Amino acid sequence: ESAVLSRIGLAGLAVMGQNLALNIAERGFPISVYNRTASKVDETVGRAAAEGGLPLSGHRSAQDFVLSLRRPRSVIILVKAGAPVDQTIAALSHFMEPGDAIIDGGNEWYENTERRIREAAARGILYLGMGVSGGEDGARNGPSLMPGGSLQAYQNVEDILTRVAAQVDDGPCVTFVGEGGSGNFVKMVHNGIEYGDMQLISEAYDVLRIVGGLSNAELAETFAEWNRGELESFLIEITADIFGVRDEHGDGELVDKILDKTGMKGTGKWTVQQAAELSVAAPTIAASLDCRYLSGLKDEREAAAKALDQAGIGSGDFISGRSVDKKRLIDDVRQALYASKICSYAQGMNLLRAKSAEKGWNLNLGELARIWKGGCIIRARFLDRIKKAYERNRGLANLIVDPEFAREMVQRQAAWRRVVGLAIEAGISTPGMCASLAYFDTYRRARLPANLVQAQRDYFGAHTYERVDRPGSFHTEWSKIA
Ligand code: NAP
Repeated sequence: ESAVLSRIGLAGLAVMGQNLALNIAERGFPISVYNRTASKVDETVGRAAAEGGLPLSGHRSAQDFVLSLRRPRSVIILVKAGAPVDQTIAALSHFMEPGDAIIDGGNEWYENTERRIREAAARGILYLGMGVSGGEDGARNGPSLMPGGSLQAYQNVEDILTRVAAQVDDGPCVTFVGEGGSGNFVKMVHNGIEYGDMQLISEAYDVLRIVGGLSNAELAETFAEWNRGELESFLIEITADIFGVRDEHGDGELVDKILDKTGMKGTGKWTVQQAAELSVAAPTIAASLDCRYLSGLKDEREAAAKALDQAGIGSGDFISGRSVDKKRLIDDVRQALYASKICSYAQGMNLLRAKSAEKGWNLNLGELARIWKGGCIIRARFLDRIKKAYERNRGLANLIVDPEFAREMVQRQAAWRRVVGLAIEAGISTPGMCASLAYFDTYRRARLPANLVQAQRDYFGAHTYERVDRPGSFHTEWSKIA
């Protein structure tokens, strides 16, 4: 069986690994697979056979697995991030030789990848940290791939990755992201943006449901309609589907039976931590993370709902007796969602740019928007416009000042303010939309009240200030003058 060597290997056959291995095999690249627990090897081999005899060979020993690969060898690892990756590398690299490459496809912290790049290099082994997005279905049918690290390791498998990735009108959803841990970092920010999108969509749902009184059927119809316009995206599409799914265990739709408690695995938190480290404002993404934390406090929220009298919240009366025009509300919420989303993407892109400058990664933001157009969870029609905005101006300071996006923001402002205002009056929290609107309103003001903050700093701490009318650094003995 080992007479014919495989083109590539994949270790770690849980959801992602199994599906990515079958995808690679289906594109005609002979692949060897391995997993710590052998039953998953058998399972994957069985699936490859069932799906028409795909060129996949299973190996139960790390040595047989590595030796079944053509040199220079390329091994993709898809195991739990952290220590399991180190353990898997230790098990496999023992049989690898200089010039071979390891490609970690997990959601790894970028600094772990940078450490492993150095450790691998000491043994002549090349290393890639490759973000993979699209979940199970993406892995099987075409994910978005964000490989960073060794360019040579990328070039060794470029033909495979470009065939395996999702295909969009302007090419496969893969590019060599940059050196070091850049691929993992870009995937992390992708996930942070995903948190923002999901939060904003949930707020749109909340406003439509509570202020607008829309039923699940109407919500399904509304989101399906939105998916035919500027909001067209995977997340809007699945949201429309969700509202239509009936509960198998009772009356009505399943969505109403799901506990309002959101899980998370850490990439959103890392994104917000990095934004703070780099002094980049990312309030929409931070608000999304905070909402996940608050959602976890289910018992406390139930107690608070009692303690803080809910009377009136969300009722028509509460909204100053105004009757809501459903059609107009739906249209306003659509615009508020779109404008909020642009601000959130602007934050994510600025975080990428700041990190790129710090690390010297030379990230191409337009190209990153392009590889997110297909395969990944945030895939959306408007990513093509983001790509074009950065193509028009590679040094664009902020997405919202690109002439096209700026025009759209201005057009959607009134609707955006109406939705946020209505929600505030009704006592419905829309932290993502509010954060985006505050970001917009802060960023576009030529003069902020920061003069007062700086005066206070100088008053109590002699931190000095600059003046608007003359150069230099000044300090005032405030209490003596007053
Ligand atoms: P997972 O549940 O994160 O990990 C399970 C796999 O890790 C199994 O193959 C398991 O082997 C292996 N493993 C765990 N500890 C190990 C150890 N100490 N030594 C060797 N192997 C070990 O799998 P997943 O959901 O497929 O995700 C894989 C990676 O892709 C993760 O980094 C994840 O964050 C990332 N990712 C996941 C998704 C998704 O939708 N699930 C999407 C994008 C990225 P055994 O069978 O022997 O236990």
